[in-house]
Amino acid sequence: MNKCSVCGHERNDHDMKCPECGSFYSKIAEIIAEQEAQEEMRTFRGRCKRILASDDVKQALLAELKLIWAGLTKKGVFALFVIFVFVFALVVSVL
Ligand SMILES: [Zn+2]
Repeated sequence: MNKCSVCGHERNDHDMKCPECGSFYSKIAEIIAEQEAQEEMRTFRGRCKRILASDDVKQALLAELKLIWAGLTKKGVFALFVIFVFVFALVVSVL
């Protein structure tokens, strides 16, 4: 016999909703929540949230930067390099 994941009330397999607390048994809701969480993980806001929620902000920031770096393609790295060189050349020419 399954139980409600929220309140522990025993459920019938044909029930879609818990009679005790009103939460849906459907896996779909769980999947959607999981997907939303995963989507947020990839956004800048999600990253910031995770970094701020971490006990060691510095370590979390480094881990995130490593993840971003690992996610970059060679083209992306090259583009960053070109931008860096361009900015460097600009600064040098001004000085
Ligand atoms: Zn319940």
